[in-house]
Amino acid sequence: MTGVINAMTVDVEDYFQVSAFDAVVPREKWETFDSRVAANTERLLALFEERGVKATFFVLGWVAERFPTLVADIAKAGHELASHGYAHHLVYSQTREAFRDDVRRAKDVIEGACGQSVSGYRAPSYSITKASLWAFDVLLEESYRYDASVFPIRHDRYGIPDAPRHFHIVTRGAGRLAEAPGSTIRLGPVNLPVAGGGYFRILPYMWTRWGISRLNGREGRPAVFYIHPWEIDPDQPRIAAGWLSRFRHYSNLDGCEGRLRRLVREFRFGRVQDCLTQLALI
Ligand SMILES: [Zn+2]
Repeated sequence: MTGVINAMTVDVEDYFQVSAFDAVVPREKWETFDSRVAANTERLLALFEERGVKATFFVLGWVAERFPTLVADIAKAGHELASHGYAHHLVYSQTREAFRDDVRRAKDVIEGACGQSVSGYRAPSYSITKASLWAFDVLLEESYRYDASVFPIRHDRYGIPDAPRHFHIVTRGAGRLAEAPGSTIRLGPVNLPVAGGGYFRILPYMWTRWGISRLNGREGRPAVFYIHPWEIDPDQPRIAAGWLSRFRHYSNLDGCEGRLRRLVREFRFGRVQDCLTQLALI
């Protein structure tokens, strides 16, 4: 274990709200699903408590509005509250004004529930791409101070393959914003994702372990790890989506909590704020 503090991040949303199920689960049907997000997030809180880990929770505004006690519990346990937007719309599929309404509403609801000021944002499905860089200006105008929505890889739904791979400052017309990109390892001409979500659940554990060790050791940089509450819930109801979405969403759900326990034993983790302070970026 090195002295580097990695960012532990959780995107707090329910199993039926993921972008991969957009086509089969319209937003107006969300209310009709059996919600499991509060119970799953409480399990993550217990796991972090056991290991003394403080994390950043990017909460969906829709969830914060319905479960304000959950948001308050996260804050009470000493974690950082941040925003995952309100209604889980991909950034590049929204107009600038619709995006502004969405991030403003999410910030208001989460701040109201936790009593902390929210300064971080992560877009649904890492959807700040070259087509939606204007989102940084809107975030600055709406008093966000950092973003964690850029993944410097090639992917069918997201990614800016040539974006900087480590924490950095983005300078825009509206000001300066810190960026905490999804973690990658550079191999030859490509960046490969190493720290979170399906990459953590589906690929062998040793891939993540090797990736974070290499980032912390050889590169001397923190990793940004991400997970969703539904990823530790093997009993969640199954949704009839296409095979690729089902493969990405349902593979190895039963092994994920054990892997996460191992990960927090093997590396140091903190809030995104802790990483930004460590790097003097905020
Ligand atoms: Zn999400």
